[in-house]
Amino acid sequence: MSSNATSGHFYATTPIYYVNARPHLGHAYTTIVADALCRWRRLLGDDVHFLTGTDEHGLKIQQAADAAGKSPRDFVDSIAPLFAEAWERLDISNDDFIRTTEERHRIGVQRLLQACRDNGDIELDTYRGLYCVACEAYYVDDDLVDGNCPIHKRPVETVEEENYFFRLSRYGDRLLEWYEHHPGAIVPEHRMNEVIGFIKQGLLDFSISRTSFTWGIPLPWDERHVTYVWFDALANYITAIGYGRDDEAFASRWPVDYHLIGKDIIRFHCVYWPAMLMSAGIEPPKGWAVGGWLLVGGEKMSKTTGNVVNPLDLIDDIGVDGFRYYVLADTPYGADGDFTYEGLIGRYNSDLANNLGNLLSRVATVVGKKCGGIGPAPSPSSPLAAVATAAVDETIARWAEVQPSRALEATWQLIRATNAHLEANEPWKAEPGPDVDAVMGDALEALRIVAILASPAIPRTAQTVWERIGMPGRVDAQRLPGAGAWGGYPGGSTIDKGEPLFPRRQS
Ligand SMILES: [Zn+2]
Repeated sequence: MSSNATSGHFYATTPIYYVNARPHLGHAYTTIVADALCRWRRLLGDDVHFLTGTDEHGLKIQQAADAAGKSPRDFVDSIAPLFAEAWERLDISNDDFIRTTEERHRIGVQRLLQACRDNGDIELDTYRGLYCVACEAYYVDDDLVDGNCPIHKRPVETVEEENYFFRLSRYGDRLLEWYEHHPGAIVPEHRMNEVIGFIKQGLLDFSISRTSFTWGIPLPWDERHVTYVWFDALANYITAIGYGRDDEAFASRWPVDYHLIGKDIIRFHCVYWPAMLMSAGIEPPKGWAVGGWLLVGGEKMSKTTGNVVNPLDLIDDIGVDGFRYYVLADTPYGADGDFTYEGLIGRYNSDLANNLGNLLSRVATVVGKKCGGIGPAPSPSSPLAAVATAAVDETIARWAEVQPSRALEATWQLIRATNAHLEANEPWKAEPGPDVDAVMGDALEALRIVAILASPAIPRTAQTVWERIGMPGRVDAQRLPGAGAWGGYPGGSTIDKGEPLFPRRQS
């Protein structure tokens, strides 16, 4: 490990995904960004813990299980593995995968509920909602189809029941004060304004329990009620790391560095969740990184519009790294992006085939023809040295802002500059000798640095580049910033031309 390595802890999470649907592009997007960020922090020497998982309780699951003729348990057991398998195929490096039906989760949720109850913030009150008698279930306005139950297509009734409520209304001032002291907690910054604006409108208490279904975690002091949505789902971020079971493990990971979330769940994550934690005497998160949506044909993916993209279909076609690179590089994190097949192929051809793939290919070819297949050492005074230093610094800075597209843009500047350096010197036309060796050594050193910087985004390709230029071991075992310093390529290694990294695709 380099002496520049840091030894910080870094804990990041994705949302847990509701198992009423199979993994789709939206899930994959947030998960790939989180994965690349965690891989980046490992390169910086951090002790990283990366959590993802599945949300498995609630009325919709109970209904979906009924419809499938399965018990809720059998139903969730049939869907949750699809997420774990999808993440494996996308090279997601999560350290843990929590399912909310696990015992460790139940223990932690009940501890959290009890802590908020003991603090006086959970009280019985009257819930008023729209109820379908046939479903034995409540709906909100958005669920209804022409004012009717979406399943039975018949009118719903306004019904009241006793529910437990969390007194969110008591937390407005404390949340505003906390955010005032943690101005960088939410990235991108404009999302912070949205959260502050929402809090300033005045916060309403929210219902946290139901008696109308049973597929959930019972309240520890009143087992007629199961907890509903927020205390169950959000709590995964603490129950997975030991809350309620292993205080030492919990204290070593919490508070989380980043919750990666989509913009549609910002209110629950940035208002409800820190208030719940404050009530239980737990520190709020250190940070939230809020992403936009990857739209398909200008619309949010939904089963209704039928535009659901399965990421696994795409990786069969374009390769894991081609897909990962596109979703990371094409859309600035925080903004909405438009996912198109043409965009995917375009990025693949321009950035991967023409830039990175072509650079490795021409370097290996010239070294084979002019340097006897042995990579020369770089020159300390190479004009590429300053470019490489700038690329390393810029890549580090952009990752620190959770801006993978800008980080990759910075890395690709070094690839472009190296291709331009080769074109300016035309080593393929020159006689073998020290001049050719110098140019090729510099290009190999640039490739070594690029392989490290790009490895969080395209881990398989980065390892392939690393091996082909004759570097030993694993590229992801390198530590920045030390390993990014110019001059690390030793020279004297055999260069392997191999097959094209990214064969050009017809657009
Ligand atoms: Zn109904």
